[in-house]
Amino acid sequence: MGSPIFTQMRRQVNRRVNRRVNRQVSLKSSLIVGGVLASCLTACGELRTAKVALKQNDNKLVYVRVPNTLLTKEWVQSTGFNRDHAKNNTYAVGWLPSTELNQLTFDDRSEIHRLDEAAVTDGRLNPFTLETSPTKFDSPAAAEEYHNYQAMTEELRRLADSHSDIAKLTSLGKSSQGRDLWMMTVSDQVELDEGEPELLYVANMHGDEVVGRELSIYHIRSLLDNYSVDARTKRIVNNSKIFIVPSMNPDGFEMHQRYSAVNTDLNRNFPDFTSDNRDNSTGRAIETKAIMDLHAAHHFIAAINFHGGEVCFNLPWDTKANDAPTEKFADDAVLNPMGRAWADSNPTMAANSSFDRGLTYGYEWYEVNGGMQDWAIWYRASMHATVELSYVKWPDASYLSTAWLENKEAMFAFHERALTGIHLEVVNDQGALVPNFEVSIESSSRTLSYSFGHAHRTTTDGPQKATILIGGRAVKSITVTARMFDGKYDRVSISR
Ligand SMILES: [Zn+2]
Repeated sequence: MGSPIFTQMRRQVNRRVNRRVNRQVSLKSSLIVGGVLASCLTACGELRTAKVALKQNDNKLVYVRVPNTLLTKEWVQSTGFNRDHAKNNTYAVGWLPSTELNQLTFDDRSEIHRLDEAAVTDGRLNPFTLETSPTKFDSPAAAEEYHNYQAMTEELRRLADSHSDIAKLTSLGKSSQGRDLWMMTVSDQVELDEGEPELLYVANMHGDEVVGRELSIYHIRSLLDNYSVDARTKRIVNNSKIFIVPSMNPDGFEMHQRYSAVNTDLNRNFPDFTSDNRDNSTGRAIETKAIMDLHAAHHFIAAINFHGGEVCFNLPWDTKANDAPTEKFADDAVLNPMGRAWADSNPTMAANSSFDRGLTYGYEWYEVNGGMQDWAIWYRASMHATVELSYVKWPDASYLSTAWLENKEAMFAFHERALTGIHLEVVNDQGALVPNFEVSIESSSRTLSYSFGHAHRTTTDGPQKATILIGGRAVKSITVTARMFDGKYDRVSISR
């Protein structure tokens, strides 16, 4: 983003990063493993990334329950503890490198309980009470009803082939073990770039958080099968382009693990705007690169990234506090009500009293550095949120239809709300579409860039004063009322 607003925010962030780095220099010596500290000192801005890399390169990650009293920020940073989603008032769970675990004091170590990760993932072990429920998978066959990679591939191909007029299956590239990172695109003119609003849904970036992967297949099936019979489905398919990536980490799924096959936590692997100003994919996981490249080719006005292990709607930011109005995501006034609506329409989410009836700001839950959500917003001007779909990461497949029923309305409502805002067609005196302009709106401090002609922007309801900028200079203002996109644009003619 070259806008003055982003430049100013970047400067503030850089100052904050410098303060953070100064603090971190005093961390205890156990941080120095395999020369990692040396690289930190030569690239201080990337210290946290190096810290993540340290953990990822350690193949012996131990899944543990940790008392909340131990979880100071310094302890988390110095040990490389990677928090998992679940929490209660007494404990958190997550991964510790075994080397770090061994270096803890006896008192600290005795408070940490090692867990059978597979049992927690499947819901057979409650990580907080340590109660076991061996009958969780009451029908073993049901556990096999998930689509493994081969079955998912066949199903996606079948869906694309049988609806080739509105669906297209492409691969974003190969995972590190050579599996395709499938993406289904759904739209009325699926082969054309009509300039319609684009939305992205990504699931299963954590390989063992699998409900979103199945819901993605349900979502695709619902869009395709209902297109010709349901007016609501037809409206969103005709007036937007929908990108669905059911599995960003197919290797992790096959291996029944969170991490990628080369032990990368993909949701800690993106450029973190508070600590890492290298917005490029060099040195990142192949799966991360695929998603970054996708964002280089498209501007997603809104996106959801599905996880499991909790049930909530998670708002930005994850990597920094949102406590002051100026610290919040600039379009929080748009996204927060969308999250509220999602949580309210999902009975399980609405009943989650660990959060504000199922809604939370990420940082207030726990800090995540290098997540896809914050990266997509900060560096790609998207409006990206994270949805946690199930308390048990890998529940019995009999739960899937419930999960779909609880989230289907939320997904459609989110999509429709994202299509509601301003829809401008910017032309010159001769009526030709204008390239490379920016649009600022009075109701947000965020200025967005557009490469050619059409500008979509999700806004709050009501009249919106929008200003077109070219080369940073305001050239025209217009007031239009927010509305759901129906294929028609408000035309703005500018002189150059
Ligand atoms: Zn996750």
